[in-house]
Amino acid sequence: MQYARDMVADGFVVLNNEFGICLYAAETARCQGDLARVGVETCLRCANAIFGPQHLPFWRELSSDAIALRDSIASVPNSEGAVAALDERVSDFSGVVSKIQGASGDVAS
Ligand code: SF4
Repeated sequence: MQYARDMVADGFVVLNNEFGICLYAAETARCQGDLARVGVETCLRCANAIFGPQHLPFWRELSSDAIALRDSIASVPNSEGAVAALDERVSDFSGVVSKIQGASGDVAS
């Protein structure tokens, strides 16, 4: 919780990651102020996260990597569970890409 204490002590807190910007508000923080929990998977669905045009390359690459991994294992026997999990990640990541593109008017891929 030191992470949260440091942020709160500084007043209004803005954290910048390669994947997004956090406007920290403790009551809606999915990480609960724990730096160990901060990352793509946690911040992706956090109300405090803002993803802007500057983060588009990150999300495009993440989406492309997930698609490539899914495609590479799709023909492996008994990989249905892993493929389904990767499909979910692809959907999440490409959803962020679409939202950023929609907000910025950027339709290039
Ligand atoms: S989980 Fe939410 S509050 Fe925590 S760093 Fe990510 S965007 Fe900020």
